Parts: sequence; structure tokens; C-alpha cells
Amino acid sequence: MKSFAVIAALLLLPVTPLAAQSWCTPRKADAGYVALTGVILWDGTGAPAQPGTTILIHGERIAGVFQDGMQPLPVGTTVRALPGTFVIPGLIDTHVHVGSDVSGEDSRVRAGRRLCRALLGGVTAVRDMAGDTRALASMTRDAKVGDMAAPDIYYAALWAGPAFFSDPRTAQASAGEVPGSMPGMRAIDSTTDLRQAVAEARGTGATAIKLYAALTPALVDAATAEAHRQGLLVWAHAAIGQVTPLEVVSAGVDVVSHASLPARQLGRDGYAALLKDSARVVERTFATPMFDSLFGEMRRRGTLFDPTLFIYSDERQSLQPIAAAVTARAYRLGVTIVAGTDSLGNGDEGGWQAPNLHEELRLLVQLGGLSTSDALAAATRNAARTIGALEGRGTIQPGKLADLVILDGDPIADIGQAGAVRLVVKRGAIYPGGPTAGR
Ligand SMILES: [Zn+2]
Repeated sequence: MKSFAVIAALLLLPVTPLAAQSWCTPRKADAGYVALTGVILWDGTGAPAQPGTTILIHGERIAGVFQDGMQPLPVGTTVRALPGTFVIPGLIDTHVHVGSDVSGEDSRVRAGRRLCRALLGGVTAVRDMAGDTRALASMTRDAKVGDMAAPDIYYAALWAGPAFFSDPRTAQASAGEVPGSMPGMRAIDSTTDLRQAVAEARGTGATAIKLYAALTPALVDAATAEAHRQGLLVWAHAAIGQVTPLEVVSAGVDVVSHASLPARQLGRDGYAALLKDSARVVERTFATPMFDSLFGEMRRRGTLFDPTLFIYSDERQSLQPIAAAVTARAYRLGVTIVAGTDSLGNGDEGGWQAPNLHEELRLLVQLGGLSTSDALAAATRNAARTIGALEGRGTIQPGKLADLVILDGDPIADIGQAGAVRLVVKRGAIYPGGPTAGR
């Protein structure tokens, strides 16, 4: 009878409210040294994977990386032997929205679940592509200090032409204020004092200005120059309304998003013709002087390309062949690709679910033709460049933040193994990987 009661208790445990939340408990870094030993290390620098490696962590940073046993460990080091596991840098999703509709879809509880699931799936930082900077600033702070189990957040102040501010999303993200008048989401035109506007954007804690809709080439040029002068990055779509992809790139923006948009370089009629026959679009379709110039300019300038292939899997399925072909062509011509989903993952109630970044990695390999190591670089070293954070993250090297993903399988052999997460380390805090939660 007693064992019956124990079994009944075990069966009941997962459905109690307390247990339902426990998968999301924030953790802090150990105060002392922690050594992960015996791992196969893919450090993200371009070096081949190294078996038999020790990663020494102190607080939130990496204190050393060396062959097992080749350096003495500091007295009192906690040793975690992880023989045969594969370690990669923490993953970065370069396109998410977790603060757009703060009173609804992005409520603190829903955004928290979405971010926590991503963290336990190996995502240790995200680039938020515009929302309510007031809410984003608060979550960014909590994620950074470990009061919230979440990836670190880097976000944008959004600028667009006045015509854009009838869009209901701008009202959601500026609730309580007049849409278009907030430092974190502002309408600009040729009369705007850009110097003042950038200074105010910096005050929101933003990493970048996101240039969005209803702008002119001259404004894109001027806004980009002033943002850079004051130390902010500039993020944009690969075409901004009437501003062509080549004009966006030539303005000097740092990152361009969405793989169907470079095709707008064809002009209105050319693009319409392409859409009519989109199922027959292949990489060769973009092997033309026009696209050689566009992708050549991106390569020359180091413009980062965020294809967001994930979003072309459902509603925008008809654009998927265009997105795939553009990504493949840009990659072949040496454009640096980064991994963004435009959809971090599920915010509904319930237990852990994999973040969408793992599907994006699979699509970059399958549709974009990326090697598995370039797909991983798209979510690590190159992704860190999109947020201006390569100095502190994106590779596993002494002095950088201890953001690591410990995997059961080899993602270089099979990109799907990037989802086989055993442990996640973020700023030195060690979390169980989401897939291990049910074990
Ligand atoms: Zn987006």
C-alpha cells in the first residue's frame, strides 16, 4: 500500500502549481571556481573542436581554457566531469520581439516563460528588434543580474516616418504616451533634430536604432551617421519601403533582416514578376550583376545578414523559395549570415519547449546551404557582432562571459544535436538543459 501512495505522489507531483513553475527558477553563479572537465570544446573562434578540454569558470567569467590536467586548479574548485559532452558558446537569437504588446501577448509572465524556455534551450542572449523600451529595460536588468531566468537582452529604439504611427503595434508599445513621441519609439522626418533624438534613444538603454518604415534614403543616411557618431548600432530591414536594399546597405547600417527583402532590388515590377513564379526561384535566379553588386557591397562593408528563415515556414510559405535562394546566394558570395527567428518561442503555460532558434539553425543548413560550423557561428560569434558584444561573448575564451551550452551530441556532425542540451551556463550560472527536465 505504501509504494502505491509513493507512486501516486510521484504522479501528482508534476501537476502541482509549484512544480509547474520550478523549471524556471533563476540561478546565480557560484562565488568560487568551477571547472568543467573532459569536454569536447568548439570555442567558436574558428579552431577545430578540441577533446579533453577543461573550462575554468570564476564568477560570471571564463578564467581559463586548457587541456585536462595541464594546469593546476585553484584550491576549492568545484569540478564537474562532463566526459564526451560537446561544448559550444551560448546561442544568440538575432531577431526576437519580447516587449511589443506588454499588456497582452508580451505580458511579463508570458515574456518570462518565453525567455526562460529559450535560456534552457541554450539561448544566452537575444537581439530584440523593437518593442516598448520601458518594459525591455526592466527585463534586461533582471536578466543581467540573474533575478530572472532569461537570456541577456539587447534592444532597439525604433524610428520610422510619421505615416507608420497609425500601426496599432505602435500604440501597444507606447501605451500611456502619444505614439511617435517616445524616446524608444519615435516618428522622424526631415525636420527632426537627429542629434537630440539619438541622445534620447541612448537614454532608454538601447543598443541600436532600428530604422523601420516610411523613410527616405536621405533620412536613412543621416540617421545612420548620427547613431554611429554617438556609439549606437543601426539595425534595419533589408528594404525600407521605397528605400532600396542597396540604399539601405550603402547608408552603412550594421545588420539587415528578412531574406525575401533583398529581392526588392528588382523594383516594383520585377519583384511582382518574381512573386508570380516564386515556386521556381532558385539560387541561380540571383546570380546576376544586380545581386552581385548588392551582396558584394554587403561583404565589403561587413553588413550582417539576418535571413529569419523560420518565418517563411508558415504564413509566408510562398516567399520561402525566394528567402532560401537569396540566403544561399549571399552566403556563397561571402556575406556574413546571422541566426534570427523573429519568433523566440512559446509563451503559453506549461513546461519546457524548445526555442525556435534550433529550427532556424536547421533551415540555415538545409535551405541556405550553410556548413554546420557556419550555422553555429551565425548564432554565436557573428551573432555577437549584431549586438556589438563580441568583446564579451560569442566565443569561449578567457575573460569573456561564461555563456556555454553543454550538448550530448556533436552539432558539427548533425546540426540537430545543437538542441540536445544537457546544461546551460549563463554568466556563470548553471541551469539544467530543457530537454533533460523530464529525465
Ligand atoms: Zn521582427
